[in-house]
Amino acid sequence: MSTSVDRRHDVLVVGAGPSGSACAYWLADAGYDVTLVERKRFPREKTCGDGLTPRAVRQLEDMGLAQELAGFHRYDGLRAMAFGRQLELAWPDHPDLPAHGYVVTRRDLDHLVAERAQKAGAALRQGTEAAAPVIEDGRVRGAVVATRDAGRTEQIRSRYVVVSDGANSRFGRALGTSRDRGLALGMALRGYYRSPRHAEPWIESHLDVRDRTGQVLPGYGWIFPLGDGRVNVGVGLLSTSDRWAGVNTTELMAAFVDTAPSSWELSRATSCGAPTGGRLPMGLSVGPRVGPGHLVVGDAAGSINPFNGEGIAYAYETGRLAAVAVGEALANDDDGALRAYESALQHRYGLYYRVAQAFVQLIGRPQLMRALVGTGMHSRTLMEWVLRIMANLLRPDEIGPAEAAYRAVAALARLA
Ligand SMILES: Cc1cc2nc3c(=O)[nH]c(=O)nc-3n(C[C@H](O)[C@H](O)[C@H](O)COP(=O)(O)OP(=O)(O)OC[C@H]3O[C@@H](n4cnc5c(N)ncnc54)[C@H](O)[C@@H]3O)c2cc1C
Repeated sequence: MSTSVDRRHDVLVVGAGPSGSACAYWLADAGYDVTLVERKRFPREKTCGDGLTPRAVRQLEDMGLAQELAGFHRYDGLRAMAFGRQLELAWPDHPDLPAHGYVVTRRDLDHLVAERAQKAGAALRQGTEAAAPVIEDGRVRGAVVATRDAGRTEQIRSRYVVVSDGANSRFGRALGTSRDRGLALGMALRGYYRSPRHAEPWIESHLDVRDRTGQVLPGYGWIFPLGDGRVNVGVGLLSTSDRWAGVNTTELMAAFVDTAPSSWELSRATSCGAPTGGRLPMGLSVGPRVGPGHLVVGDAAGSINPFNGEGIAYAYETGRLAAVAVGEALANDDDGALRAYESALQHRYGLYYRVAQAFVQLIGRPQLMRALVGTGMHSRTLMEWVLRIMANLLRPDEIGPAEAAYRAVAALARLA
């Protein structure tokens, strides 16, 4: 195999999921010369619940995609289900965020955003895998990429590299990132089913998923309507339970499908294929996120919200924050400007995610999980508040999300 060398770009972005495409969009929009490499070809599948909260919608609208989004299935809030009770909780009014979400397959969504980055001026190279970083004088200068169809390797050189290669993040690992194993990790599985309730305006969460012994687990089962004849069905679990290692997620998923309300008509007959799963690195558990000549964003940085397992909005947001820091570094020819990215992450999520991590440790105990959910399901007001905290949707005039979360966790623990 021959290796050719490309001219030097301003930025190379590795991976065109939500974090990479958002980062490439904002950098291209600011006029920088950006190359975005994606090892697969769009449209491609990505295992996900496909749920977009108001936070994610806001980011997509900021990237100029409001009209495109309007063609997908819009919903108004969350139906929480547990212990025979149900509460329909509308997304709250918020001065900066819409009061609705969407459910969009990642096959459609990621293609849309990658194309948006391309239209803004980023060069999108699909079927191109960043195999290894190019490191010179202790600093990243680009990547050796393998182009699948042409069967050759090439060096793409850049002043800065943004690592957005997702939860497995092989490229990030090659640059020295690792996950803090003391912090919680999520694991989830999802499949598609045909359902007569595919067009409902609510996403549904079941907060009482159980293991084989009937113990309530820290996690939830979901049914998210896609509006195209199908629903996305899944289960997510946290590693904080001491039974984590013993839980077979495939069995858990099968049990959830069997016990879900029959009106959804989930069965082998309506299944669109075997479920697939993935890991959810959360609470900024992966780092370092700033290194010589590079930044790490999205799942590669463990940016998922531990409270609810939502990662798309945080992938867009961290990609955008990284674009600001890289833009500063380029404009002022100052590598030191990259450090502002970590400060921005800490400012926006640091304390909130620390409280979230404490919360997920707490619900690792089955009695407490049961008591908290049982208590919450008896109070609409409490659950509305909990939803706003967990989805990070507090208004700016309210106390900060971290403090609110802390108070909520403390109040719930007292009640329980
Ligand atoms: C089962 C499950 C359900 C979930 N449900 C939801 C949900 O409903 N809502 C929500 O908000 N979040 C959900 N999440 C989390 C969400 O999927 C992630 O947080 C989100 O995809 C992170 O985006 P990302 O851009 O960081 O990474 P990814 O989406 O993983 O994108 C990474 C991209 O990089 C490419 N890539 C990887 N390596 C290379 C390389 N070396 N060179 C070139 N390209 C490369 C990959 O092909 C991929 O396209 C769920 C996760 C799972 C596993």
